Amino acid sequence: MSEDVLRICKRCLTREMIDKDEYFQTLRQLIADVTGDERSSDRLYEERLSVCKNCERLADGLCGACGCYVELRAVIKENHCPYDKW
Ligand code: SF4
Repeated sequence: MSEDVLRICKRCLTREMIDKDEYFQTLRQLIADVTGDERSSDRLYEERLSVCKNCERLADGLCGACGCYVELRAVIKENHCPYDKW
């Protein structure tokens, strides 16, 4: 396993890890596949991700509280933060 894979990016979203685009391809497709009433508005999505970006539990795009990729969790409108931050 390369050093890149092992390095943890605190406070990073996966979309900021452009060197790992291929690695996150499936995740990006899952996010894109959430549509219609199920999907958060762009504004709500960005507000949620902004909260996650400032949360001490975020590491490598994952929420340390629930184990989810926060970008996928946040794009589903009915979801919420396990610590009620959003
Ligand atoms: S979902 Fe909540 S607990 Fe998890 S990283 Fe985001 S703000 Fe923090």
